[in-house]
Amino acid sequence: MGVNKDSSFLEGVNRMLDQAAETLDLPPGLAGQIKACNAVYQVSFSVGFRGGYQIFRGWCALHSTHRLPTKGGMRYSPSVNQEEVEALAALMTYKCALVNVPFGGSKTGLCIDPRDYDAHQLERITRRFARELAQKGFISPSTNVPAPDMGTSSREMAWIADTYRNLFPHDVNAIACVTGKPPTQSGITGRTEATGRGVQYGLREFFRYPEDVKKAGLEGGLNGKTAIVQGLGKVGYHAAKFLQAEDGVRIVAIIEHDGAVLSENGLCVEAVKDYIQEKGGLAGYPDAKFIKEGNAVLEAECDILIPAALGGQITSENAGRIRARIVAEAANGPTTYEANEILKERGTVIIPDVYLNAGGVIVSYFEWIRNISHIRFGRMGRRFEENKGLLTIEAIEATTGQAVPEKIREQLIYGAQEIDLVRSGLDDSMRLAYEEIRELHSERENVTDLRTAAFAVAIEKIARAHLEMGV
Ligand code: GLU
Repeated sequence: MGVNKDSSFLEGVNRMLDQAAETLDLPPGLAGQIKACNAVYQVSFSVGFRGGYQIFRGWCALHSTHRLPTKGGMRYSPSVNQEEVEALAALMTYKCALVNVPFGGSKTGLCIDPRDYDAHQLERITRRFARELAQKGFISPSTNVPAPDMGTSSREMAWIADTYRNLFPHDVNAIACVTGKPPTQSGITGRTEATGRGVQYGLREFFRYPEDVKKAGLEGGLNGKTAIVQGLGKVGYHAAKFLQAEDGVRIVAIIEHDGAVLSENGLCVEAVKDYIQEKGGLAGYPDAKFIKEGNAVLEAECDILIPAALGGQITSENAGRIRARIVAEAANGPTTYEANEILKERGTVIIPDVYLNAGGVIVSYFEWIRNISHIRFGRMGRRFEENKGLLTIEAIEATTGQAVPEKIREQLIYGAQEIDLVRSGLDDSMRLAYEEIRELHSERENVTDLRTAAFAVAIEKIARAHLEMGV
């Protein structure tokens, strides 16, 4: 995925891993074992359409099975190849370990441009792909659990779940064979926006530490900071929307496939999204400057650059010109290994993908638990909590002789719903992981950046698992 002389995506991930492993005291050979991809399944299958048969090629990489099931997205993109799938699967292993999701890492990919097919054709392709994978054990609630990724969504997950259930009707946990399903098909509320929410929570956490903010040459909180977002897909759209609406971040530019729009006063994320939906691109968007050479805008002045689209966007070619103080990696692998080195050298703070975009898999983990426990979070306790709140209010009013103010009253008698618990669990996971990264970063002199620290935290946990299991 890297351009010209840059390392490929897989080489880059492995080199970053090596760099982190060198800062640790691991038994010889263990880093190599952690790095190695456990299994890759390549499949070719054909689907008959009216115009004849078409062959499709896909891969499923199970990177590490030190914990099961393995977990990771299913990508539909013309850029998918074995190397990319392996690199993404490795990132999933480190991501899960870092944010304490007890899964190994995997990735599934189909080399296809989904825009070339209608919904009916995509359903047939997806069901066929799912059958190929499930029959070989590459999809199941206990071995490998895919989820949405680039080019797929809850719609594909519903088709896969249905295919799996038909193949294995006696598996009581069949519905847990994929996550990111529609809420009406045993999905969990809040999964669609989870990665974007995670980006928001991760950035909030970073800005809670003035020392870290200072290292980026900034001060204060998120409020009033400027951001450029590349990609207004699921991740970029939600991250930008939440940061703008809830944290006062000014979105000064948005980059999409046909160009970029810029506005010093800030763009309305919702309006830009609606415009793209209606017109198919950004060109002609009112009240903003349009630049056709979209990627040049990655280099524009801002506090936070949020690449939320493809991998390999910041390379050795443009890294030297990036003016953002913080690169917040919402996409997987947006920065090549060489670009990473250049940015570090220049003092740009990178909040790495392996941490920042983990919100999706964290909430996927909650969905999987919900599915294997066959109950919605909050179902047992919500009314109980409400009654406790009412009792507390009665007790306060009886002893003080005063009415509890309406606002506090409402909060006290509120029993948490599933979405509240999902957000709370996601927030907690993002905060804890950042604290672990910070702690290791501050304790080890040889760890000089957040990515190395994040990888080191992950490696330590995976290494411990291997050593304890005696592998
Ligand atoms: N595709 C997402 C990722 O790359 C989510 C994976 C999951 O939920 O399993 O992290």
